[in-house]
Amino acid sequence: MTTVSGGTLDSVLGQATAVGTLRRALGSDRLHHALLFEGTAGVGKSFVAEGLAQALLCDDRREGLACGVCVPCIKVLRRDSNGRSVHPDFATVARAMYDPATIGRKTQETQDISVDQVRTVVLARISLGPVLGRGRVFLVRDADELSTSAANALLKTLEEPPPRTYFVLTTTRPGELLPTIRSRTQHIRFAPLPDDVVTRLLVREGHEQAAAEAVARDAQGSLSIARDKLRGTAKEAVDTWISAMEDALKDKTFASALKASEASKGSRDAAALGLEAFAAHLVDEARKSVGEPTAQALRAAERYVRVQKALRQLDGNGSPQLVMEALLADLRSTP
Ligand SMILES: [Zn+2]
Repeated sequence: MTTVSGGTLDSVLGQATAVGTLRRALGSDRLHHALLFEGTAGVGKSFVAEGLAQALLCDDRREGLACGVCVPCIKVLRRDSNGRSVHPDFATVARAMYDPATIGRKTQETQDISVDQVRTVVLARISLGPVLGRGRVFLVRDADELSTSAANALLKTLEEPPPRTYFVLTTTRPGELLPTIRSRTQHIRFAPLPDDVVTRLLVREGHEQAAAEAVARDAQGSLSIARDKLRGTAKEAVDTWISAMEDALKDKTFASALKASEASKGSRDAAALGLEAFAAHLVDEARKSVGEPTAQALRAAERYVRVQKALRQLDGNGSPQLVMEALLADLRSTP
């Protein structure tokens, strides 16, 4: 396989079959105009769709592949504040992607992708032609959520789109799609990601290797499941931390205090994260009393000030364990 491209398709990990099929089609200029990406959530379907959009809209294509650095290539990946690509010829259709007013509706799309969205986002634009001239790409995310009338409105265009207009539909539930949509699209299967690929992607996002490996083993090849698990683990760690702090403050012995300071040994980030969570917890405590502040609320407020001081010390490069020990002694001396 050639490696001419510098676009997103080049950085896809773990989908060699799907990406290989697309690259060959691009290279020989025989890409099907309506593709259906099938596979579980979090395996890279939308990511590959973006790479494909780059290859189709790039100003400096070589052997059908994107350069990755021209203005159109960059615009495909850049998002506006609503999370939509800023490239005028790369549009996304997805449930609740647009304000109801934008697509001529009174209410948000809660159940399905409405025919209103298909009319506004796809059909109205198609009749005007591409803005930048190269072509148009429509990404229909979770296409099984198209309402029957939305799917029907799309059918004719899917069958006979204008020149250089491409559709990428994604789905985690191919069986739920209307047969008429299925039969008009070329199906590309996305496999679950190997565990080591999930790990690499998490590390690339800034997570620690050990934590990434631990969740990847149990994520069924899905980056989104792995991310959810990491969030869950982080929340658990914070909860453990808060209860260790509470115990340390209630306990007359130093055993729990040691446990709490142990938790932050060595890692400044862990200590800071734990302290920030504890500070937030104290704010909640302080807010519990309505009207006259209770003794408990005042104590929480007092403790909050001290936790903030410890956070500043951590920021100023204090040793995490020493900062924690000093804080615990300080907190225990507050009445
Ligand atoms: Zn380019």
